[in-house]
Amino acid sequence: MPTYLLLIGGPGAGKGTQAQGLREKLGLPQVSSGDLFRDNLKRQTPLGQQAQKFMDRGELVPDGLTVSMIRERLKLPDAAGGVVLDGFPRTMPQAQALDGLLAEFGGRVNVALYMKVDERVLLERLSGRWVCRGAEQHTYHLRFNPPKTPGVCDVDGTELFQRVDDAAEVQARRIKVFFEQTAPLIALYTERGLLVEIDGAQPIAQVTADLLAAVATRTAA
Ligand SMILES: [Zn+2]
Repeated sequence: MPTYLLLIGGPGAGKGTQAQGLREKLGLPQVSSGDLFRDNLKRQTPLGQQAQKFMDRGELVPDGLTVSMIRERLKLPDAAGGVVLDGFPRTMPQAQALDGLLAEFGGRVNVALYMKVDERVLLERLSGRWVCRGAEQHTYHLRFNPPKTPGVCDVDGTELFQRVDDAAEVQARRIKVFFEQTAPLIALYTERGLLVEIDGAQPIAQVTADLLAAVATRTAA
């Protein structure tokens, strides 16, 4: 019986990194609905062409099409043992559609892994731009241009702080939408006894260890 894991986490929660870790340790490929979508559009598959028609009309792509894309992906040989699903489901109807789809492959959702990270921490991670308090306002980015000493300007030694700029507001909006959309799913999988909450604010290796431990417990025969 294939193993199907759901990976749930907000923007900036580190799902991509963790999905890679799960692939290495468990041999389960990551199936991201966003990647599938882009791939089908790019290759102009029949499903991609159908999706394109909706997008050209400015309409939402129906769930059925997304489900079909996932079905095609699950049929590939590397998915025979199961996959880590990322980005789907996002809504209750999608969760129901997913149940039906996995049943076609003789499986079900084994565990829903929720990488919980505080809204504020997500925002910090996403909007990594820092400015110094000096007169010249030197700028840094935590990832792309970090200071030599964390929190201190290389040039004048003043403290670094974050400005609430437009970018941060856009990120904040994305994060808010995630929490609004996800709450019912968290409730659904909790009710089914499938949800495992992982502290996603921990160091990457510890998050991976917690995820693997959760999977081991939930997939033991
Ligand atoms: Zn400075």
